[in-house]
Amino acid sequence: MSSPIIVTIDGPAGTGKSSAAAQLADRLGFDMLDTGAMYRAVALLALEHQIDPHDEPALGIAIDRSNLLIDFSSRPPVIRLNLRDVHERIRDADVTAIVSLIASHHAVRVRMVDAQRQVALQHDRLVTEGRDQGSVVFPNATVRVWLDARPEVRANRRTVELRGRGQQVDERRVLAEIIARDASDRGRLEGPLLQPTGSHAIDTSDISFDEVVIALERLVRARLGAVSSRCGCGGGA
Ligand code: C5P
Repeated sequence: MSSPIIVTIDGPAGTGKSSAAAQLADRLGFDMLDTGAMYRAVALLALEHQIDPHDEPALGIAIDRSNLLIDFSSRPPVIRLNLRDVHERIRDADVTAIVSLIASHHAVRVRMVDAQRQVALQHDRLVTEGRDQGSVVFPNATVRVWLDARPEVRANRRTVELRGRGQQVDERRVLAEIIARDASDRGRLEGPLLQPTGSHAIDTSDISFDEVVIALERLVRARLGAVSSRCGCGGGA
């Protein structure tokens, strides 16, 4: 088997990480992992089982008793909670409101990090996106990217996306929510939101989605080319 190629994309909420990661994965013929969806599914589990989002031991037990599955049979993959497709449900406001608190618990993070590494063992061409992919989960990834954008731009993108899904949202509230969630993600002790040392930073504020994907693809192909010419082993997808 050839050596695994992992591309990590981290950054704050609303930078377009999931969409860019999905497009990049398609262009490269890689699989794609949306790790935010995993934390969102745990938040949904807490809501549905009426578990206090502060109750770390209860959350750990609930995860162990449930079946949280990433179904790679569709592209991009969908997340299933006890076999149910919760891909859409996990984007709702009640889930978003508690997900950062849920993701701050050690008992939750160890389980998710372990699950993400298991995915990488089974998918050796992987684009994975989140908050800690390049810093904690895959610090030796082939390419590590940090996507960022000004908060106002991110809030506007998220607003357009939610309205596109038929939700009525106030852009100022979305901005406040994004700022609060980023602060919470940055401030936690374990797996905090931070730019991984040595990662490639792309500010997406003033460039189009297509330009972001092109920049990402260029970066990855250049890196794969450099790796294959060093080892003489051919590293392209
Ligand atoms: O990317 P998305 O907005 O769906 O992520 C939802 C939340 O999941 C984030 O705000 C963060 O609290 C958590 N998360 C995380 N680590 C990751 C991915 C997401 O803590 N790798």
